[in-house]
This record gives sequence, C-alpha cells and structure tokens, in this order.
Amino acid sequence: MPDGNSLYGPLDPAPDAGWTSAGPRMGFFTDTSVCIGCKACEVACKEWNAVPESGFDLLGMSYDNTGALTANSWRHVAFVEQPVPAGHRSAPFAGNPTGGSASAASAAVAAGTGSASGTDPGVPPGSADAAARMATATAPTTAGPGGTAPTTAPGGTGGVPAGGAVGTGTQFLGMPGAVPPGRGTGVETRTDFRWLMMSDVCKHCTHAACLDVCPTGSLFRTEFGTVVVQEDICNGCGYCISACPYGVIDQRKGDGRAWKCTLCYDRLGAGMTPACAQACPTESIQYGPLDELRERAAQRVSALHDRGVPEARLYGHDPTDGVGGDGAFFLLLDEPEVYGLPPDPVVTTRDLPRMWRRAGLAALAMTAAAVAAFVGGSS
Ligand code: SF4
Ligand code: SF4
Repeated sequence: MPDGNSLYGPLDPAPDAGWTSAGPRMGFFTDTSVCIGCKACEVACKEWNAVPESGFDLLGMSYDNTGALTANSWRHVAFVEQPVPAGHRSAPFAGNPTGGSASAASAAVAAGTGSASGTDPGVPPGSADAAARMATATAPTTAGPGGTAPTTAPGGTGGVPAGGAVGTGTQFLGMPGAVPPGRGTGVETRTDFRWLMMSDVCKHCTHAACLDVCPTGSLFRTEFGTVVVQEDICNGCGYCISACPYGVIDQRKGDGRAWKCTLCYDRLGAGMTPACAQACPTESIQYGPLDELRERAAQRVSALHDRGVPEARLYGHDPTDGVGGDGAFFLLLDEPEVYGLPPDPVVTTRDLPRMWRRAGLAALAMTAAAVAAFVGGSS
C-alpha cells in the first residue's frame, strides 16, 4: 500500500493534508434509482451559493437543460433517454406492456426520427395484431394553434400521425412526453424508452489532481476531506481544468476563474446539510460520514439485486480505484459511460513522481557526459 502523501492509493485525505483534529470524512451518496429529475438540487445549489443562471437553454432533445457540469452548474441533473428493447425490463417495469413496437411508425418515433433519414433505425415492429390496433387508433381531433390537429399519442410518447404514417402532420422533435415511460395502462402507452436520471457533482476525489496542480493554493483540502476552490486566490491559469479526470471544474466566461461544487463548505462548518441534499425530496442525495454512506449504499444495492434489478451498481466507492475513491459516489442503473462518466478514472498526477525521477536521472547523465567531455578534452 502506498505511503501517506502519495499521489495514489487509499488514504484519509484530511489528516494527509495536515488536519490534526479532523473528524470523519464527509461526503455524498447519490442514489440515482430514486431520482425523479425534479432539479430541486440544481436550484438549491444555485440559490445558496449564488451561482449565476445558466441561461434558459432547451437542448431540444432532452429535459436536461443544463447539459453538463460547468462553472455555472455545480449540480447537473442528467436525463438519459435510453432505448431499451421492450421485453428486457427489470422488475419495477414488470406488468407493463412488453413485446416489439406496435408499428413501424412507433419504432421510428422510439428511435428519434420523424422522417426518412436513409437509415432503418429503431426496434423492429412487433406482432401484426398490435400493428393493426395501432393503425386503427383514433388520434385526438381538437385543432391546435394554426388549425393543425395535434397527434401526440396517448401517454405522451411523441407525435405519431394517425394511421401510423411518419413524416406528415406534426413533427416529432425528439422530446419525450410529459408522462414518464411505464405510467398509464394499455398498449397505447407502450414506449421503447426508459429514463435514467442522475444528479452529477464534483467527486471530491481522495487524490484530487485539480488540487495537486494548482500553483496558487486556491484549491485546498478541508477538514471534512472535501476539495474547495477559493475564488479570491484563483488566477485563472486553468491547470486544474485539464487535470480533473472527470471534467468537473470549469472556467467562468467573463470572469476567468475556476469554479465548482464546494460541498457547501460554509454550511458544513455550521453543522448544516449541503443545500442540494437538504432540498432533494426523494433522498436521492444523501450527505453524511463517508463510511456510513458506503454501508448504506451496499445495503441498497443488495436490496435492489434482491428485487430483480441486477444492473444496480456503485460507482466511485472503491478506495483502491484510480483516484483512491470519491467523496461523492453514486448508485447507477447502467454502465458509467451511459451517464457520461469515465469507466476507470485515474488521477492525472499519478505518474508525476516517476516522471520527475526519470527527468532527474536524465539531467544527471547529461551533466556526467558534459563533465567527461570537458575532462577528456583538456587532457
Ligand atoms: S479532480 Fe475533478 S472531480 Fe476530483 S475533486 Fe478536483 S474538480 Fe472534483
Ligand atoms: S437528486 Fe433529488 S432533488 Fe435532484 S433531481 Fe433527483 S430527486 Fe430532484
């Protein structure tokens, strides 16, 4: 096992940083299986930390309107609209309609195309019976603005023109309906999508490359084991941005300095819970001593496995991983890449000691060669 002050491997970061009377390491456990995507965490974070608004951006293909963690989004609720082959659903979806798509039109809508694209995407249409039911379904006839009859399918799964034809009438813009997939009853509510939601945040890594490379001391390790950036010391050099293996820390436009989640350092000091965890209505975000959170997370994964959700897994909890484990870790329902997370992050400063050793040896060899040439030339 590496020594204390090493650049990788398990350690307790606050004592390692010199805190002699540090309490237990504190952190976040984000259980994405109960996230409802309400974004209360994003809003609470902005309000408490006075983070500027991110602009009213509609991405046009998702209810995720902030898109990523940025200098102005310290919590980011990702919406992953995932085409899942019907019939391959875990227990929570049991009882919902299964089988192939009812028609070629619904398969195309499920694949996100509303008109001919030269490809043949989507889930193949299912039984002829289901296709016939779909084709004879009556579309709502209330005229919308401009006199166009809306053709949104019951259950809000997107605009399927009456009769199943794609490419005429209202265009499907790729946005999911207002009703979550799986809600409602009847074949007409079937959808080939599921939503995965995840409130992402700075990982407060055990080995934080952002902190290792900061030349001004703007980034520091707190007594809670978290990583905080002090904006009044940051000189905007951006080293931390390229060093972070998760792409978390970001430079604010028009300001130049680096910003990220502080895990509400000011609230922790006052014995309070971070704003996002306090606001989360489903307790998807849990705050507390990291050891307790890890135990709770292991129990939750095991309960989900028992309930027939074998895909449940933890991410960032393992102190022997490439960053020494995270102070903010997650329960995921699919591979990390699906959520935009690196599958095997490694602290980017891990190889620095070896590189410096080699550079030192090379410098010594060059010096020895120069001395030998000088001595040899003068004899
Ligand atoms: S390296 Fe990135 S994820 Fe880790 S503490 Fe720094 S900013 Fe957060
Ligand atoms: S983590 Fe909690 S507060 Fe944030 S979107 Fe999910 S349910 Fe809402």
